[in-house]
Formats: sequence, structure tokens, C-alpha cells
Amino acid sequence: MPGGVTMTSACSIRVRGVVQGVGFRPFVYRLALANALAGWVLNGEQGVEIHLEGSDDRVKDFIRDLKASPPKAAQIAEIEIHQTEPQGLVDFIIRESVRLDRPTVRISPDLPVCEECLAELFDEKDHRYLYPYINCTNCGPRYSVILGLPYDRPNTTMKDWPLDRYCGTEYHDPSNRRFHAQPVACASCGPGYYLREGSDTVARGKGAIAAAVRMLNAGRILAVKGLGGYHLACNAFNATAVLAMRERKYRKEKPFAIMVRNVEGARSLVELSSETEALLTSTARPIVLAPAKVDIPGIAPDNNELGVMLPYTPVQHLLFAAGAPDVLVMTSANRSSEPIAYEDDDAFERMSGIADAFVVGERPIARRVDDSVARAGIFGPVILRRARGYAPGSVAALPTSRPILAIGADLKNTVTLVVNGQAFVSQHIGDLEHYEANRAFEEVIQDLVSMYDVRWEDLVIAHDAHPQYLSTAHALKLSSNARVAVQHHRAHVASVLAEHGEWNKQVLGVAFDGTGYGDDGTIWGGEIFVGSVDAGFKRLAHLRTAALPGGDAAARHPVQAAAGFLFQLDTLPDLHAEPFDFGNRYTVARQLVEKNVRCFATTSMGRLFDTAAALLCFTREVTFEGQAAMWLEQLARTSTTCEGYPFPLVGSELDFRPLLTAVIADILAGIAPQFIARSFQRGIAEGLSQALAQLSSAHRIDTVVLSGGVFQNELLLEDLKSLLANEHLEIWTNHAVPPNDGGISLGQAAIAALTAPQ
Ligand SMILES: [Zn+2]
Ligand SMILES: [Zn+2]
Repeated sequence: MPGGVTMTSACSIRVRGVVQGVGFRPFVYRLALANALAGWVLNGEQGVEIHLEGSDDRVKDFIRDLKASPPKAAQIAEIEIHQTEPQGLVDFIIRESVRLDRPTVRISPDLPVCEECLAELFDEKDHRYLYPYINCTNCGPRYSVILGLPYDRPNTTMKDWPLDRYCGTEYHDPSNRRFHAQPVACASCGPGYYLREGSDTVARGKGAIAAAVRMLNAGRILAVKGLGGYHLACNAFNATAVLAMRERKYRKEKPFAIMVRNVEGARSLVELSSETEALLTSTARPIVLAPAKVDIPGIAPDNNELGVMLPYTPVQHLLFAAGAPDVLVMTSANRSSEPIAYEDDDAFERMSGIADAFVVGERPIARRVDDSVARAGIFGPVILRRARGYAPGSVAALPTSRPILAIGADLKNTVTLVVNGQAFVSQHIGDLEHYEANRAFEEVIQDLVSMYDVRWEDLVIAHDAHPQYLSTAHALKLSSNARVAVQHHRAHVASVLAEHGEWNKQVLGVAFDGTGYGDDGTIWGGEIFVGSVDAGFKRLAHLRTAALPGGDAAARHPVQAAAGFLFQLDTLPDLHAEPFDFGNRYTVARQLVEKNVRCFATTSMGRLFDTAAALLCFTREVTFEGQAAMWLEQLARTSTTCEGYPFPLVGSELDFRPLLTAVIADILAGIAPQFIARSFQRGIAEGLSQALAQLSSAHRIDTVVLSGGVFQNELLLEDLKSLLANEHLEIWTNHAVPPNDGGISLGQAAIAALTAPQ
């Protein structure tokens, strides 16, 4: 333009997504200054709001850079831009947050301490040298400190620690990494850590860390406050300490997670593929399951995998730097399967007989968030427990404008809240039969609904179709005008399709799991459906029905489940004799089946796996859900050959009789157990593949969805991947939510979104 005069334009921009608490406003501020633009930015409840005035070209540059290089932890979902009238502004400012109507901003999950903060933590000349609550806009707590929206310091658990001059200067300096970092603090103005033994504070700060390290090295058990709750920690290589931990926690055999100093440490313990390493070092910092290279006594009995994680809080780094053992057991502070302790007084009370001392941080935790558990699977990353680092992120966009609350299943419970079509999945809550977990379930529901300011009367409540589930009973108590009951296994299949955003695609949906209430009132768990989320899923085929004597107790006793399945075989050897040794529980269960007393009909694949495990000598009671099936998979993995026992689709039934007959025949022939376990697994995979090939051509379908707890079995997935590729079938599995019942709430929400009136 002649004379260098440029047009002044103005626009308003709204950015939605994970844009609060991730350094977004300082980023916008710096970008505006760099482009000589006037205006303002603020955190609104609809996202980040920006007003810009300046030359046309500079505004365009600003928008280009905004899209191209947002802060690392931000996830932009949508950018709306409108032209407006210039107001003649001369500078650019960060304005106070405003509260409008319903918040639609997304709450950031908690973040691990960043490299820059770590460097400062160990720099003697730094103001925050060894300060355990160091953080910045790129790292630190988020979901676990937020008391309400918008995300500002008065709405966090840091509200009681006013900033001193040093922190205040950084907080208000747009060029600083801590500009508007809400949890920012230092040793002189912020909370600290102390060591508590009995009811005494025995050391503070650096002294507390040093004393804690001495105790860990001496084989003691410590409770250490983390981001979303307390951990119990001990030296993983001290077998006496590990055994004491198991006894005090009442945790007989379930594997313990371990924390290692760094990636090299992890590499020395487990097979670290590039995918596993990426998951281990991802910002969620989950516990990652990977094949073990070493056997650490007592950590993961009968299991070839170890669950490993890296330190993610400054305190964890301080402990390692001060000389803590290289490999620590880091398990949730709870007894048996109660929820993790996160409030100090509750932790002191519940852990008093378990922990020898407490490493206590003064910053309160707003809500409990466990460590997440993940694995680099054959189809990509799989989340087995979704909590810290992932929750409460949005996992899917559902085609609905009505708010929906889906309250999940009774085991491995999670809840999903849908607001403006975004499905926010809660952290793992646990098994609702435990009183504490049930209370946590009610708290999480209240928490999510009030955080997003949803009115109860507007909510559609989605729940499991099981009339006796505790979650169903809770759904009926909630004050809502609309309820949708969703069949368990259809919810599993829908959870995968929700992740893919596919509502009309026709698929074959396979749901293999332990227990779920079927349409006919029997216990389902080996189902093949055809259909779509929108049109519904029709049951095409299923595992042949067997009797389940004694109901729920059969899930804890493999021989009890076996009694029902084996009853259908024409001939059976004496199962009380060697090598089976089934014992009295089997005899009693068998009598129940014969008289048809206290028996339930089931198509549960989980119980079929239990039956095979029982035949291969896993005849004791399981001590955690899925243990016998995991044991069988681990045994199968040690065999290099197999023959794939027959598991044919006959009519609409997958017939387990030839499969179990072959297992028994090979046991009696003295064939190695690992070969039998492997051939059983291979038989399931081949039988399912053949059934799917047949059904897919009959129904002209090219995509198969696999979900349900049985598909945590990685060996089964490996077999299916190659077998179904031969049939030219595409396979979809869960990635954002677990294939186990932790994913049920998302599936319920998806089905409710399509079926509830708008
Ligand atoms: Zn940082
Ligand atoms: Zn300070």
C-alpha cells in the first residue's frame, strides 16, 4: 500500500480444547507482542477468548502461529474467528477470568515435572533448589488441585498460600515460564514436605527426604504423598520388605507396580520396545506393562510381565537423587482393593499399621486419582486403568446436545459425563461392592456434574441393564427425567465405535468378558453382535451356554466354574485324582449342576478360560479378578508350538466341548502344560476367526470390533491379528478407554446419545 499505511483490522478468537492451565494465555500474550498487536486474552468458560487489533497481515501471522505452535501440553479442539470493529486499543493485556454460563473448557490432566523445572530443582544457585513443589506452566498438578472452574489460583488447593514477591514477580511477568502458573510456589511462600512417624513430625524439607531415604534403604515401608493420592513405597529388591508389604496390605498375589530412577533403569528390568518407551515417557507417565528381563521375588508372582513407571513428581526425583534404592515398589496406599488414600488424616488412620512413616506434602489433593496402567499392544497403546495423566480428558465427540451421565458397571467402575457432545471419562473408581469405592463413586459423580455446572433435571442417565447392580440402584435414585438402560456387552462394543466416532458403520462386535447381564436374564460374556451404534446391535452368535453353579462365587473359584462347563462333556476322567486334584469345592459344585440347584446359565468366555486353567492345575481360589486367565496366558506364552484345539461355530453357538475334550486328552497323555495352554488359546483364536469369516461374508461386513476384559489377553490379540488379516477383516480395539469394564461408561454414553430423545 502506498506510504506503508496498512489496514487496521480487529477480530475475536475463541479457542476450545485443553487450553487452560497449560500456559496458553502467556503464549498468546507473547505472540501478540511479537506481532505488535493490541487487545486482550482471558480464560472464559467457553475456552480462551482473544481480542486482537492491528494490521491485517500481522493478525494473519498471529493466527497461523497460534495453530502451528501452541504450548506442548495444550490440545486445541476448535478455533472460532470473527471479524469485529476496532476499538482503538493500544496495548495487549491479560484480563481477569469471567464466569458465564456452563463451562465447556476442558480440565487438563496432571502433568509430570518438566525438564526445565528438574534442572532448576537440582541447581544449587536456583531459587527453588530442592523445593519439592516446583512447577511451571508446562508441568505440575492440574486435575488433582482444581476445586472449581475457571482454572485460577483461588479455585485450586493452593489458595491458602499467597505468593511472595519472588513468585509474584514471575507469576505476573509475561516473558516468564511461570506467568500465570496457578500452582507456582517456592520454599519461602509455598507448602513443604515433612516426615511423620507415629504422631510426630520428625524432620522437614531436605532432612525429611534424607531420613526417608535412610528408611527405604533399611527395608522400611513408607507412605509417600503423590499427585492424586499416597503411595506405599519400599525397596523392590528387599524381599523381606516386599513380603511385609503384601502381608500388611492383604495383597496376596496381585502384581506390584515399580518405579525406576530413569529410562535406563527401566531398560535393565523390562524389554523396552520403542512403543513401550514412548508410553513410559509420555506426559501421562502411566505404569507400563512389559516383558520382564529379571525376576524380582514377590513383585509379580507367576507373571512374565512387570509394571514399570518413571518418577513424575519433584519429590520422587528428590528421593532418587538423595540415594533411594534404584527400584522402588510404588503401590497405591490402600488395604486390599479399597480406594487409594489421598487425604492426610485418612491416610494416617488407614495406613497406620502398614507404613512405618509418612512423607507428607502440605498441599491438599482435591480428588483421588490413581496411577494409570497401560501397555504397548499389538494394535497400539492400550489403557488398562485410566486415571492420572489421562482423566478427565475428553475421549470422544458424541452426536448429542443433551448432557448425559453414564455411570458404568459395578466392577472397575468409571463414569462418563457428556457436555456439549464431549465425553469426559472419569478416573478409575474401582469395585462398587466395597463401601469406600461406592462412596468414591458418588463423590466423582457429584464432582463432575458440579464442575461442569450441569443441571440434574437436564441429564440423561445411562446405566447397566443389570437390575441388581449397585450402579443401577444408584441411577434410579438420581433425580433425572430420562434414563437409558444399556446392555453390558453392547456397551463394550459401542465404546470402541465411540472412540472411532462411527455411529452408522455396520460391524461385527465381539464382546468377550467375565460377567454381564444378558437380554434373557442369563449371564452373558461370549457374544458376537452385528449392527451399529445408531441401529442397535443384534446378537448373532455366542459361546455355547453352560451352567454356572453358585453364581458370583464361581468367578473366584476356577474349579467351580469348571463344574458347569465340564458337565456337558460325555466322558470325564476322575477329576479328584492326579493330575487334576479338583477337591471338594468341585464335588459340591458338580452336585449343584446335576440337581440344577443354585445354577445360572452363562455364556461367559472368562469362565471358559477359568475352566482351562483349572484343568491345568490352577485349582486354588483367585485373589484378584482375571487372575486364572492371566496365569493361563503367561503359561501359554512359554510354549513355542501349538496345534489349535477345535472350537467350531455350530449354528449360532461356539462349541467349547471339542476344545475342552482336547485339553483333557492331552493332559492325560502327559503333554506339557504350556503346550496345552497355548493350543487352547490358539483354538479360541482360530474358532473365533472362522466364525467371524463366515458371519462377515453372510452379512457383508468388513470390520470387526473386539472389546471386553478377555481382550486384555495380548496373546489372543496377536493370534487374531494374523488370522483375521488372512480373512481381509479390519480389527478395531479400544485405545482411549480400557477394553475391560473401565470402558463401559463411554459405551453407555454413546448408545444413550443415539437413542435418548434430544
Ligand atoms: Zn516445569
Ligand atoms: Zn515464593
